[in-house]
Amino acid sequence: MTRYADPGTAGSVVSFASRYGHFIGGEYVPPAKGEYFENITPITGRPFTEIARGTAEDIDRALDAAEAAAPAWGRTSVTERAGILHKMADRMEAGLEKLAVAESWDNGKPCRETLAADIPLAVDHLRYFASTIRAQEGGISEIDGDTVAYHFHEPLGVVGQIIPWNFPLLLAVWKIAPALAAGNTIVLKPAEQTSASIHILLDVVSDLLPPGVLNVVTGFGIEAGKPLAASPRIRKISFTGETGTGRLIMQYASENLIPVTLELGGKSPNIFFEDVAAADDAFYDKAVEGFTMFALNQGEVCTCPSRAVIHSRVYDEFLQRAVERTEKITQGHPLDTETMLGAQASAEQYEKILRYLDIGRGEGAKVRTGGEKADLGGELSGGYYIRPTVFEGDNSMRIFQEEIFGPVVSVTRFDDYAEAVKIANDTRYGLGAAVWSRDGNTAYRAGRDIQSGRVWVNNYHAYPAHAAFGGYKQSGIGRENHKMMLEHYQQTKNILVSYSQNAQ
Ligand code: NAD
Repeated sequence: MTRYADPGTAGSVVSFASRYGHFIGGEYVPPAKGEYFENITPITGRPFTEIARGTAEDIDRALDAAEAAAPAWGRTSVTERAGILHKMADRMEAGLEKLAVAESWDNGKPCRETLAADIPLAVDHLRYFASTIRAQEGGISEIDGDTVAYHFHEPLGVVGQIIPWNFPLLLAVWKIAPALAAGNTIVLKPAEQTSASIHILLDVVSDLLPPGVLNVVTGFGIEAGKPLAASPRIRKISFTGETGTGRLIMQYASENLIPVTLELGGKSPNIFFEDVAAADDAFYDKAVEGFTMFALNQGEVCTCPSRAVIHSRVYDEFLQRAVERTEKITQGHPLDTETMLGAQASAEQYEKILRYLDIGRGEGAKVRTGGEKADLGGELSGGYYIRPTVFEGDNSMRIFQEEIFGPVVSVTRFDDYAEAVKIANDTRYGLGAAVWSRDGNTAYRAGRDIQSGRVWVNNYHAYPAHAAFGGYKQSGIGRENHKMMLEHYQQTKNILVSYSQNAQ
């Protein structure tokens, strides 16, 4: 077991500045209006740094820098860009502990996960797009014997990117890597709740990029996010966040007729077929482990398996085992490597989850375990901790239909395949889902019948860079990850050439 020291204290692997400006044109600049706001660690509920409160003036300044850098960056060879992305990955890998601890401190998630998942996945993402951009090819169409159409991929130019607070560094890299690989320059706005760790990332990698290629403006949604998303100066907006905000982003983008990528909310079903419990073996244990994934990242995951749907014949036995496993989840200080469940990311989110615990009880759901805040005592008593909670109820309840974004799972039962699929699809969302079965035929059919962009079969919460990720229905538009992302950040130039010697 390791317990990392709090940032800024003796022996810590990372320390934050007391105040951060915006990162524009390769340097830190103070906010135009001179205002800052406190960044709080959810681990203790105490402020630890000040963040620049951006406004439209700061966004314009960042767009100036991004526009100035765009022509030269867009003309760099793919080999050069790939080389830079690889170096960014190497630096992040070398700075693993520093980045992981910074991320845990900013967001409240356990360093067990930031060390093993958030940062390594971000590193892999950079390497993946460094590689795929070099393998990308244009196309040639032979129109007739004398006429050829060439297709070139060109960068869009300046792109806007807005991210939420649940995976601050990973989602930043999910957006930055393909955009840079494709030759675009960026203005990125992190979430106001978690704007500190990105500055540690900038410490680690920003000197590798020419000034103005990556700009970061911090601040609140309406004050800084809207001027970015609504700017006629960006060529694309990529947004991850709530479905309601996504709707606004699309309205802004429609004014400027620019493409949008929206990664939004979810209410993902996790379906356990009868044969899961057919034998007391490793597969059964794996499925139970899959059930507990609702608590990963404190449930603050857009694909949180927040609805468990279990076959009636094995319901009682499976659920009993799942509840016992849930009660073994180690909750504690997020900088302790044994901790599995850390703090919720903000006071606002913590209060929202507690309200949903009341809503669930109020609408008649039965609490099998949890259902309350966790008081971990000492310095953690000011932090935002909630016990992992298992509710039993039915799919019409609000706790089955609304995104709670906490360590809360709502469990119901089904009698046959058709009912399982009906429950899975009875939601306005369609981001993630999982099917657990020993029968490949059942799993395949369910995978095709469930209306969501990602269906895991016999696993959950895997996010490899080369698997497309995105939502059906109100969970979003477009995809992230996978080499198809390059084309989301490019436009196609067609040059149609006649080699004929004859007059037309
Ligand atoms: P949010 O929509 O409140 O905020 C997300 C970002 O948008 C923040 O940076 C915020 O400042 C900014 N913003 C808010 N209002 C804006 C506006 N009017 N114009 C421009 N920018 C604005 O979402 P959140 O609460 O930070 O994040 C949680 C949500 O994100 C959940 O719904 C979750 O499911 C979703 N999410 C989705 C994915 C995915 O890939 N689908 C991944 C992570 C999180």
